[in-house]
Amino acid sequence: QGSLVCVGTGMTLGSHISPLSRSYIEQADVVFLLVADGITEQWVQQMNSDVRSLQPYYQTGVSRMLSYQQMVAAMLAEVRQNKKVVGAFYGHPGVFAWVPHKAIAEAKAEGFAAHMEPGISAEDCLIADLAIDPGTYGCQHFETSQFMFYKRTIDPAAYLILWQVGVAGDRSLAKRGTDSRYRQLLVEVLAEYYPLSHQVILYEAVTLPIQQPRITTLALAELVTAEMDPKTTLVIPPATKMVANQQMLDKLAALQADDD
Ligand code: SAM
Repeated sequence: QGSLVCVGTGMTLGSHISPLSRSYIEQADVVFLLVADGITEQWVQQMNSDVRSLQPYYQTGVSRMLSYQQMVAAMLAEVRQNKKVVGAFYGHPGVFAWVPHKAIAEAKAEGFAAHMEPGISAEDCLIADLAIDPGTYGCQHFETSQFMFYKRTIDPAAYLILWQVGVAGDRSLAKRGTDSRYRQLLVEVLAEYYPLSHQVILYEAVTLPIQQPRITTLALAELVTAEMDPKTTLVIPPATKMVANQQMLDKLAALQADDD
């Protein structure tokens, strides 16, 4: 009976993969692989004799959604051949990643065993490298373009993390990066909540152990001309203080008085 497991290889080569994910890769009949660089590909190739890169499905100028659908189709075709299939994705396979979720849902809908194994995501590295605890003020995550396309309500007293900021505002899903005109519009949306002088962070976790993470602090207004690439994540620290909910605190105090 065919099966599908989507695993995460983590962000940093060699050190982030879980023993369970590694064992799924080693025991699979076929492994489909989507990682950030060629060296990481070579590392995973050593774990199984049939590792197929999903990278060639990306085509310049073509919507990423088309590539994603082809990746899902390629994996499902092998599951239907009754193979033990593993999809190995960098980071966490379920974090800002359409293909693993979709492939698992389709495999399950067709009656195959399918599940996900977690991995160390960019967010996990960000928490460690920037010494941020999402519990201190709360933390909101959005995909940058979605944040621009839809009216969202955000809380400037909490952290805001914007993923895929390098392609901010790209409606074609075909660009590798968007330019300062698009960034200007992103800053315009953010300026509804934050002063232009608010200090924000551009973050890039290391993918190879010899690197240092990128942690660039700059004013919100400077995002327009800042250097970004597909792996950049934007972190916006809180700009306002949390406001106490006095009504609720009073109700809780009354409850507490009843309990005492
Ligand atoms: N599944 C991945 C994970 O677990 O981190 C995220 C995949 S999502 C399609 C791609 C986005 O993740 C990037 O645009 C960026 O926001 C973030 N990302 C990927 N690599 C990163 C890195 N090395 N450092 C910081 N953020 C990264």
